[in-house]
Amino acid sequence: MNLLQLLTEIRAMKRAEHWTRPELKRYQAVQLQKLRQRVYAQSPFYQEFHKGLYDAPLDELPVITKEIAMSHFDDLVTDRNVTIANVRRYMDHMRPGEKFQGKYRIVTTSGSTGRPGITLFTEQEWTSIMAFLVGRLGQWTGVKPSLTHRVTMAAVASTSPFHMSAQGGSTFLKKLLMPGIMFAANEPTERMVAALNKLQPEVLSVYASIGRLLAIEQDRGHLSIAPRTILSGSEVLTDEMRHSMERAWGNIIFNTYAATEIGGIALECDRHEGMHLMEDRMICEVVDANNQPVPAGTFGDKLLVTGFFKYTQPLIRYEISDSIRLATKACSCGRPFLLIDSIQGRHEECLELPAKKKGATVSIHPLVFHNILDTQPITGWQLTVNKATLRLVVSGAQGSFNETTIKQRLVAALTEGGALAPSLEIRRVEALPRDASGKITFIKTKSN
Ligand SMILES: [Zn+2]
Repeated sequence: MNLLQLLTEIRAMKRAEHWTRPELKRYQAVQLQKLRQRVYAQSPFYQEFHKGLYDAPLDELPVITKEIAMSHFDDLVTDRNVTIANVRRYMDHMRPGEKFQGKYRIVTTSGSTGRPGITLFTEQEWTSIMAFLVGRLGQWTGVKPSLTHRVTMAAVASTSPFHMSAQGGSTFLKKLLMPGIMFAANEPTERMVAALNKLQPEVLSVYASIGRLLAIEQDRGHLSIAPRTILSGSEVLTDEMRHSMERAWGNIIFNTYAATEIGGIALECDRHEGMHLMEDRMICEVVDANNQPVPAGTFGDKLLVTGFFKYTQPLIRYEISDSIRLATKACSCGRPFLLIDSIQGRHEECLELPAKKKGATVSIHPLVFHNILDTQPITGWQLTVNKATLRLVVSGAQGSFNETTIKQRLVAALTEGGALAPSLEIRRVEALPRDASGKITFIKTKSN
C-alpha cells in the first residue's frame, strides 16, 4: 500500500464533501474524460464497444453487464499480458498474500446475475479502496481508525481468501484495527456470541441477516456487548433488521452498499437519513429496464456505475441489477452527494437446515455456498433446498469442475457450521432458469 497516495486520496475525499453540486459535476466530467481517453487507448473491447461514440455523452453509451465483462475479459482489461485462462490457472495454486504476475490482487464476486466474476486490482487501485475505507467509511461512521488509535473490531465476513471482505479485512484489520476478530458467516451462533462477549468490540461489522441474529441473542441475554458503531453491508438491510438491531444497541447502525467490481458505492452518514452515493469516486445512474433515467422518489430497475479509479478492468456504465430509489430531499448534513432512501433486491435469507443436535435447526448463511461455488469454472449455479435434501444445478461446467470435490467441500462446510450432513445431489445443465425479472435465484427453499 502506498501511504502517500492513501493520505492524498483521503484529503481529496474530505475536500469533496464541501463542494457544491456544480463543483461535483465539473469534477465528474474531468474524471470521466480522463478515464475514457485511457480506456480507448488501451482496451480493445471498449474500442469496439464504443466505436463511433468516442465523443458521445455518457448516457448515449451502451450498457455493460457482468456477463459481457466476463466473456470479453481478455480484451477488456488494459494489460495485454492478462488473460482469464491465466488468472484461473493461477487461482488453483495461489497462496495467501501472493499476487498474480507479481502485481494484481484477485477478488471474486457472485453478484446477482448468477455468473461468478473475477476482479483484478493493482496496488494503486487497492490503495484507493483502502483510502475509501479509512477516509470515508471510517470518518463518517465514527470508527476513525488511525495508527495511534487502534479500534477493537469484530467482523462477520467471508473467509474465502478470494472474497472482497476477507481481502479488505485482512489488510484493514491488520494495519489499523487490531485487535480484531473475524468470523466466517457460517460460524455457529453460540461460538460467535462467546467470542464477542469476550472481545467486547467497539465496532461490529456484519451482514444484515447476521446482525439481526446477533440482536436476538442480545435480547435473550446471551450476548452482552455495547458497540459504538455497527456497519451493515453485503445484503439488503430491511426495516425489520434495522429495528431489531436498534432495539438491541441504539441508533448506531450505518448501512453500506458496495460491489466488489467497483468498491463502495453508497454509505450512510451520521444523520441516518439514507445512503449517500460516492459521487466523487464514480458516476451513478438510476435507470429503468430500458436504461432511461428514473426520477428521485421512484424505484429504478438497475444502477449503472462508471468508476473513476478502475483502470485495469475499466467499467463504463456497468449494470448492477439492484432496484434503487433516490431520496427527493437532500440530507441535512449538507454534503453534495445524492441520497439513496431505499434499495430492493439482493436479499438472500439464511437457510434453516436440520442441526446435528436432534430436533434442532441451524442457520446457514448463503455465503457458505458462494465461497465454494463462485470460484468454480462454471457460468452459474442454483441450489434448491428441501429440508435436509439439497439439489445443486450448475451451468456451463468446464473440464476441471469436479462434482466429488465440490460435494465434499460443501458437506464439510455445512457440518462445520453445525448442520446435519445433508443429502446433496449435483446436476449439470446448459443454462439456468431465470425468473420473470430475468434474474437467477441462487437459493430456493421448498417446505415439502
Ligand atoms: Zn448526510
